[in-house]
Order: sequence, then C-alpha cells, then structure tokens
Amino acid sequence: VTGVALALFDLDNTLIDRADGFGSWATEFAVEYGLGVEVVPTLTDLDQDGYRLRPEFFALVRERFGLRAEVEELWAYYRRTYPEHLRCRPAVLAALAGLRERGWRLGIVTNGLPDIQPAKIARTGLDRYVDGYCVSGVEGVRKPDPEIFRRAAARCGGTLDGGWMVGDHPDQDIGGGRAAGLRTAWIQRPGRWPAWPGRDPGPDATVRDVVDAAALLVL
Ligand SMILES: [Mg+2]
Repeated sequence: VTGVALALFDLDNTLIDRADGFGSWATEFAVEYGLGVEVVPTLTDLDQDGYRLRPEFFALVRERFGLRAEVEELWAYYRRTYPEHLRCRPAVLAALAGLRERGWRLGIVTNGLPDIQPAKIARTGLDRYVDGYCVSGVEGVRKPDPEIFRRAAARCGGTLDGGWMVGDHPDQDIGGGRAAGLRTAWIQRPGRWPAWPGRDPGPDATVRDVVDAAALLVL
C-alpha cells in the first residue's frame, strides 16, 4: 500500500440499518396519516429499499391510500422526520474508531438527496467518525461513476491505490469501487440480492457487516 490507507463506506444498509430505520419511520407515518400500522409492509414494498425516487414513491403512496395531502407535503414530512429514525450501531462506530486509531482515513460515499443524506450522517454521529463524505445530490455525480470515489479520496486525504470500498450494492458500491481502482468488500444481504456468481468478477471479499469488514481490513 502506498500513501495513506483509505476505506470508503456506503451509508444506507452499510453503516446504518436503513431497512430498520425505514420501518420505524413508516410506522410513524402510518399513524400520523391515519392509515394504521398494517400498511407498513406495503410502504416497505413501495419504497424498494430506498431506490425508488421519492416523488414517485409518495405519488404511489398517495394513490394507494387515497391521501388528500399533496406529494410535496408528504415529501416534506419525510425530510423532516426520517433522519430521526436512523441509528448507527455502537459496534460499527467502535469499528470505525479502531480503523482510525490504526491510521486509516475513512469516508462515506452515498447516492442520495443533498439535504437528507448529510442530516442522516449528522444524526447518527457518523460525521465525527469519518474524515469526509460525498453525497451524490451535492456532488452532481453518482455511484458507480469512479469520479465520486476520486472526490471522496481527495476529501479524506487518502489514496485510491490500496484502498477499499465497503457496501451492499453490487453495481453502485462493488462495481463502482472496483472501477475506481479500490478493493471491494460486499456486505451480503440475504434475500435482497442475487448470489454473486454471474456478476463478474465479484467483490474481493464478502462480509456480514461493517464490523467484519473492518476486521478484514486490518489483517
Ligand atoms: Mg446501500
């Protein structure tokens, strides 16, 4: 490894458990809009793991449940309330702290909105555990474009050569990280993604979570 060791991490369903956080938010939303908590699985389906764009998501929610509130109002409610439902596990924060103690530079590379993603990073305390972050909605460039990884590396003061990208999305995180010259650790989410075979050439490592990934990096 030449230069300063660098580890970049995806945010949603990598550093934070988005699935859990969305479920918690959806429960609050269902109560607030008088829908009853039985609609939470439907909201989760419509959400598509967060990959469905928010205007489309709220248009579908509004139509499905016959809500009178406009899409803009529902979206504003989401922006205001959703970050509060997200947590970063103490074990994950400890793993990040351990890497930094060993001299690693750490960064977050996330596709998402310019107001919501930074709020999530601050709300979970992650801003105090990393050297920098790149949010696609701020940068105007999205994973898997290698440019967003290059910017994150520069912002964190690390070098892509010998660095790692850790994430759960095969194309955005693993394909994108590799294209930027990083080694890759894939956080496997059973039932969410197809098994890796068939996606060539696959990640350098498959891990259960960020804690496992951090242990691998310091081997
Ligand atoms: Mg993710």
